[in-house]
Amino acid sequence: MPTDITNDLIQDYCNRHTSEESDVLRQLNRDTHANVLHPRMLSGHFQGRLLSSLSKMIAPNMILEIGTYTGYSAICLAEGLTSKGKLITIDINPEQEDRIRKYIAEAGMENKIQFIVGDAINILKSLPYTYDIVFIDADKPNYQRYYDMVFDKVNQGGYIIADNVLWSGKVVEEQALAKDKDTKILDAFNVYIQHDERVENILLPIRDGLMIARKK
Ligand code: SAH
Ligand code: CA
Repeated sequence: MPTDITNDLIQDYCNRHTSEESDVLRQLNRDTHANVLHPRMLSGHFQGRLLSSLSKMIAPNMILEIGTYTGYSAICLAEGLTSKGKLITIDINPEQEDRIRKYIAEAGMENKIQFIVGDAINILKSLPYTYDIVFIDADKPNYQRYYDMVFDKVNQGGYIIADNVLWSGKVVEEQALAKDKDTKILDAFNVYIQHDERVENILLPIRDGLMIARKK
């Protein structure tokens, strides 16, 4: 299974011409790779810098992240928050809580980032906020459900960003599309957004594919 969509040499060149991650993020990156299952799920240096840049361009007051893992992308996205802004991040897995809280504290973001443990499907309903950015990065079968659940809570001009929508490139492989459930689901999600006239969208072939949809 390919790890990246782009050619390794080009990706390496891009990495070398992209600002470095902070010391805290570098430690979290290493710690996750050394001590946590499935470290490939972590956004990492390059995508992390992209999320940070996008967030800084948008200057959001409120961000919702669905799928925290070890907190890497949450810290990156929170870098762009306004001075009073907040990021809420949800994960169903309670096992990384200590690690997440430790790195949020080390990043000096305890007052900016709220971590909630639970099934996003349940938690989302109880949150009273509206958002400038929603980052969908949890269980792939529920992507469309998350999109529909949050849509009315996204501010006009706000963004829904969904990760892994190219699914290691499988969305263009006929065999995978025919047989693999997650591939079918992600393809259907991309088609759904493409046909959603309420948004302007762009699918970036970065890392595992990032769908960016702006609510008109
Ligand atoms: N955003 C992180 C990676 C997230 S990995 C980063 O870029 O670094 C996907 C996460 O989604 C996993 O930690 C998993 O526990 C979580 N997840 C899966 N199903 C979920 C659900 N129903 N509700 C909330 N989180 C879920
Ligand atoms: Ca991801």
